[in-house]
Amino acid sequence: MMKLARYLHEGHIRYGILEGDTLHELESTPFSGIEKQGRTCGLDEVEILPPVFPQKIIAVGLNYRDHAEEFDLEMPDEPVLFMKPPSSLLAHDGEIIYPPMSKRVDYEAELVLVCGAECRNVGAAEAPAYILGYTCGNDVTARDLQAKDGQWTRAKSFDTFCPLGPFIETDVDPGDLAIELRLNGEAHQSSNTANMAFSPLELLSFTSRIMTLFPGDVIMTGTPSGVGEMFPGDTVEVLIAGLDPLRNSVIQR
Ligand code: MG
Repeated sequence: MMKLARYLHEGHIRYGILEGDTLHELESTPFSGIEKQGRTCGLDEVEILPPVFPQKIIAVGLNYRDHAEEFDLEMPDEPVLFMKPPSSLLAHDGEIIYPPMSKRVDYEAELVLVCGAECRNVGAAEAPAYILGYTCGNDVTARDLQAKDGQWTRAKSFDTFCPLGPFIETDVDPGDLAIELRLNGEAHQSSNTANMAFSPLELLSFTSRIMTLFPGDVIMTGTPSGVGEMFPGDTVEVLIAGLDPLRNSVIQR
């Protein structure tokens, strides 16, 4: 079990292993073998960045049975995929900017799978070998624009609409993890990854039969019931058992 971080230190983007409050810098990226290179620094000396900078952020609509029941929707027989652009990434502790185009911005707590190797046509049974680890994500959504546009690109893609992090936890079994979203300290979503229709391994396999996934690409595995609205001034947290919590605030510019 390792905690991997990506951070800004002395003007450079670096990857490291977090042990206690100490970051052990890696030789290179975590995708080319995880080797400490000897240099360390304190967590308080760096700016934490999203734990990867993916080429692709794949997301899944409607993957928790409790979320489908909440909206009285049928579960799809195959995963329904969409994408968010890497420009929507936001680090732990970063500010979600409420866009002037929207009047309804929602949180969606999600477990996020991080690919560790190039994968194409991977079976679910082989999928673990292609996974670097897991982190927390918030699939921020302009719900009014999602309904108005009839497809999801605008609603899901504003800058800052993809908080991710703070760290990648390796060796996580994703099958039975408590997942919770807290808004201003109060629980609003509370479920378990056991309620997913398609497991993270199945999602990786399915996606890899459509497009090649590269190291650092991520799959957001869907959100449970209890989605709701956020307002400027709010603090939103995604908590998943075994992972460090992801916290962000909402601001209006
Ligand atoms: Mg979602």
